[in-house]
Amino acid sequence: MMHWSLRRQSSWVQLAGHQGSLQLSDGGEVLKLYSEVEANCLDCLMRDPLRPFVPQYHGLVTKGELCYIRLEDLLSGLRKPVIMDCKMGVRTYQEEELVKARTNATLRSDMYQKMVKIDPSAPSAEEHEQGGVTKSRYLQWKDTTSSTATLGFRIEGIMTEDGSVQRDFRKIMTLAQVTEALLFFTRRQREILEAYHSRLLALSDALKNSLFFRTHEVIGSSLLFVHDHSSRANVWMIDFAKTTPVSDASRLRHNVPWAEGSREDGYLIGLTSLITSLSQAISV
Ligand code: ATP
Ligand code: MG
Ligand code: MG
Repeated sequence: MMHWSLRRQSSWVQLAGHQGSLQLSDGGEVLKLYSEVEANCLDCLMRDPLRPFVPQYHGLVTKGELCYIRLEDLLSGLRKPVIMDCKMGVRTYQEEELVKARTNATLRSDMYQKMVKIDPSAPSAEEHEQGGVTKSRYLQWKDTTSSTATLGFRIEGIMTEDGSVQRDFRKIMTLAQVTEALLFFTRRQREILEAYHSRLLALSDALKNSLFFRTHEVIGSSLLFVHDHSSRANVWMIDFAKTTPVSDASRLRHNVPWAEGSREDGYLIGLTSLITSLSQAISV
């Protein structure tokens, strides 16, 4: 699996996700493979206070056998864009994934291997002996190897203006390391750091007024940071393929740790971490 692709003629870049799941249309829209969950979210978002923070959604298009979601290209008009994808939340799997994984307690040697590769001391003595771990164990462990579980987000990748992509930020654990990464990403340009900071404060306000946000468990969604050499900088909410409605009675707070069954995602824990870290980067 390749994690990103670069189209030089349009300078469109895919920083995360499976190659082929996104493409640029001839008309300059981003086409993402259809999912009902994501299309439903985008429908709601176009009528929500969060609309200015989401790529414009233009409905669906079918190409051959496949159906796609038509999105505004957030890189349009930028030259040599610099991009960062931050996956938000204190967990990156849905509760239902965990439940499903539990009903099938098969030991997975592939997941055991991945675990050992990242941290040979992570498996228990029993797991070492079995040479396998359950999927539910793996899912829960994985989010503790990045800042996801503690800071409420992780940096998935950064593309710098020369087009190279760095993905080793996933090992970042502390806020000080995040600040370092932000200074690297912005090359310490104060105007850009400030533009990102005020955009995130505006997002924070919009989230408070959003019915969509109160009623959706937001899992695996990213904030996409983009700027170029002109000091324009912007942040967008993307990727709603795992964002699902909760019943109206159980409105979410998003700023409390997750306990199974609560469906809390910790999205605001991540946003607060990012805002704090940007403030620190500005005052360096
Ligand atoms: P994953 O679930 O692995 O994160 P995915 O297949 O759900 O990936 P997205 O996260 O929606 O895909 O998008 C992957 C990447 O494509 C983003 O990191 C970003 O670089 C790029 N991208 C997505 N949507 C847009 C857009 N509207 N405009 C510009 N770039 C985009
Ligand atoms: Mg994504
Ligand atoms: Mg996704």
